[in-house]
Amino acid sequence: MSAAAPHYGETAARLAVAHTEATRCIHCGFCLPACPTYQVLGLEKHSPRGRIQLVKAWTEGRVAPGEGVAEALDLCLGCRACETACPVDVRYGLILETARDELAHHRARQPGQVLLKAVLRHVAAHPRRLALAARLTARLVQSAAGRQLLRAAAHWPDSWLPAALTFARALPAQSGPPAPTSRPAAVSGLESAARPGEHNTWVVKHAKPRAALFTGCAQAGLFPQVNEATAALLRAAGFDVLVPAGQVCCGALHRHQGDPGHARTLLLRNLRAFGFLSGEPPEMVVFNAGGCLAWIHEAVGVFPPGTPERAAAEQLAARAKDIAAVLLEHGWTPACGLQNGGRRPLRVVYQPSCHLTHVCGVTEAPLKVLRALPGVAVALPADGGACCGSAGIYNALHPQVSARVLERKMAAIAAGGPPDVIVTSNPGCHLQMLAGVRQAGLAGQVTVKQLPEFIHWYVAQSQKTKSPPG
Ligand code: SF4
Ligand code: SF4
Repeated sequence: MSAAAPHYGETAARLAVAHTEATRCIHCGFCLPACPTYQVLGLEKHSPRGRIQLVKAWTEGRVAPGEGVAEALDLCLGCRACETACPVDVRYGLILETARDELAHHRARQPGQVLLKAVLRHVAAHPRRLALAARLTARLVQSAAGRQLLRAAAHWPDSWLPAALTFARALPAQSGPPAPTSRPAAVSGLESAARPGEHNTWVVKHAKPRAALFTGCAQAGLFPQVNEATAALLRAAGFDVLVPAGQVCCGALHRHQGDPGHARTLLLRNLRAFGFLSGEPPEMVVFNAGGCLAWIHEAVGVFPPGTPERAAAEQLAARAKDIAAVLLEHGWTPACGLQNGGRRPLRVVYQPSCHLTHVCGVTEAPLKVLRALPGVAVALPADGGACCGSAGIYNALHPQVSARVLERKMAAIAAGGPPDVIVTSNPGCHLQMLAGVRQAGLAGQVTVKQLPEFIHWYVAQSQKTKSPPG
């Protein structure tokens, strides 16, 4: 055996948790209809059951990772719909994450993995750099050379190139740098006294419930208006809103791509920035991205039990909330007070973030706050809200499979006729829906917004025109 070849004894030891969990699968197949990759690829190895059996066989030394295991795990979206569908509660996410960590260990020196890790650490996790990279890519795709590339791609419709260009064309060309302009202009009542890198101390000016806003990296870099809208909604709901200095990317992308060490580093920085390691932390940390919230809920395991960091991460997880759930819990009502005036309702399809649904269990609150808007008819896609194929950076790494998942998704969204607006709850889903609208030939007909952005826009338009926008 060469030095680089996997040693099954070591692999089995590192994958012991995954192996134990995999043995709980009873092979019933209830998860198969819920799995988007099984639906589009039609092979057992691309189903949850198949992947679990492959990981089990790998840990028992019966197959090598090159024998289909790596491909099966790479092509998993990580959407976790299989967990919700499973009658015996197999923790598929635990199996997937542990197995991916092990794969990352074996691939650590491969050039592609080194590059991916560097891009995630040094570009994706930094809103300004991410915004710049998105702008440059968007401008390149829209340039004369980009248009030539698009024409060339049309000659190979089933190749990687046209699928990748579909997603590249969805990048917002005007995404702006997030700070300081994306910080809510009128943060009220509670201010952070910390400079970047310092611990927070809180200055309470008057007694309102306090909400700290988690701004994220993709959200702040690509869709800063969603953070503005979230802060505005929280203030309208009676909160003092704080945007803590020194907060960084949540680390979900790094965790899901086999870089748990960096995810841990980022979590530590956020615990400091939000005051959970010293000072007085806020009662509530509000998230508008389902992927970030889900990771924060699950992240406590990166610190050993009994450590102050673990206790702080547990406290953050307990106080981390989704914006729609917060609005609902605090009795927010839209300041519309409108009659529909006989016009047809604005047709909205809510496409949820998978992790908000399957990890956080937030399913009803987004629908309820959207349905509180007068003159809006809200529905889920015909598939009930299955994964759109975004899945973090899946659409960049596997554009062809992602495009097939997206094609099914757009058919499910438009099943009852195209909606006026697609509302999402994650920046990655937002980008994917922009690509889907273009792919389905609905550009100019269907608008895509995230939930806080849509509600804020709708209420503002209603107040201006004294009638629901249509
Ligand atoms: S996480 Fe999603 S894509 Fe992966 S096996 Fe489960 S349902 Fe299928
Ligand atoms: S539903 Fe659960 S027990 Fe049944 S095959 Fe899927 S993972 Fe295994």
